[in-house]
Parts: sequence; structure tokens; C-alpha cells
Amino acid sequence: MGPVLNGLIKLQEVESRLRGVKQKLARTRRGLTLQENQLRNIQNTLESKKDEAKLIRNKIDKIELEMQIRDEALKKRQEELNNAKNNKEYSALLTEINVNKADNSKKENELLELMAALENEQEESKQIESQIEKQSQKIEQVREQVNVKAKDIQESLSKLQNEWDEASRGIPNEVLELFRRLSDNYDGEALAYVDSTGGKRRNYTCGGCFMSLTNETVNQLLSNDDIIRCPSCSRIVVLHQDKED
Ligand SMILES: [Zn+2]
Repeated sequence: MGPVLNGLIKLQEVESRLRGVKQKLARTRRGLTLQENQLRNIQNTLESKKDEAKLIRNKIDKIELEMQIRDEALKKRQEELNNAKNNKEYSALLTEINVNKADNSKKENELLELMAALENEQEESKQIESQIEKQSQKIEQVREQVNVKAKDIQESLSKLQNEWDEASRGIPNEVLELFRRLSDNYDGEALAYVDSTGGKRRNYTCGGCFMSLTNETVNQLLSNDDIIRCPSCSRIVVLHQDKED
């Protein structure tokens, strides 16, 4: 191995720290997003409570109007009853009046139930509004904490980015491209170390995917600074540092 492969080993070490810090930043921000989602859920619940209340309100208005019309009709029938010309007319009017009264008393019960339901919805809405208030305050606190943390993390990120740039110097562009692509595929592990087992006749395997590697691969790595990729997982294979001595 030579400067390119050794440079890649250093680069992978920086890359792995860089990814760790980026994940930390994402985790930190996710904390805030979770709280914001929770707030949105509570707000949605409030909206549906308000819609429900509006529906009940409409039903109440409709029943009240119906009852008003029926009351006016009743008043009229009552007058007609007082001026009834004969028994037949009188009893017909009386029947009509009684039916209307019974209807109104049924509606009255319905109205009472609806009003109780409306009051219930309004009470629940009030509770939800106070939850929203609390959750909003909590979010402000979390946002401040997250901003402070994120600023620290951003600082270490830019330091690490400098380290990365430094470590990547001297590595050819096409190798860097490959390194980046493999890093994305393997979550920061573009390189795989060659592992060996056995006595005199050693068996070599890729530390990334555990598939066999040939003696030629190992010899080539020992004597050259070539990019050799594992035939199975296509990571760039390198030797453990102590193997070089
Ligand atoms: Zn492999």
C-alpha cells in the first residue's frame, strides 16, 4: 500500500466521525420536529371539535326555528278553537293542537340534549386550547435548546469538514468519487479490511462482506498502491496497518 490507500484509511476515519456528527445534528433537530408534530395533532383535534360544535349549533338553530313556527301555528289554532262553530270543528282543532304540543315537547327534549352536547364540546375545546398554549411554550423552550446544541454541532461539523478536506488532499479525484459513492452505499464504510485466518496456508476474506479474497489480491496490496475492489461487495479493500511491516 502507498499514499493513496493510506490516505483513504485516514479519510474513512474522518468520514465516519463526520457522519456520526451529522446524525447527531439530525437527531437533535428531530426532537423539535416531534414536538411540532404533537402540536399539530392537538390543533387538528381542536379544529374537529369546533366543526362538531358548529354542526350541533346548526341543528339547534333549525329546531328552534321549527319550534317557533309551530308555536305561532298553535297560537292561531288556539284562537280558531275559541271561535269554533261546532263540535266537529272544535274536536278536530283540539286534536291538531295536541299533536303539535306533543311534537314540541319531543323537540324540546332533543334541544336540551343538543345544548348539553354543545356545552360539552365547548368545555373540551377550552381544555384543548390550554394544551395548545402549554405545548407552544414547550416548543419555544425546546427550540432554544436545539438552537444552542445545533450551533455547537455545526462548529464541530465545519472543523471535521476541514479535516476531511485535508485528508482528501493527494487522493486522485476519480478515487475520491468512488470513495464518496461507496461511503453513501455503506454508511461511511467505503473501505473493507482484509481479514486472514489459518496457519501456513492462510485464507483471506473481505472484512466487509466476509467473502473470500485471493492471495494475489493481498500480494498486490502489499506491493502496490492500487485501488482493488472486493468482487462481492465492491468496497475498496485495504490491509490492516500492522500487515505492512
Ligand atoms: Zn466485500
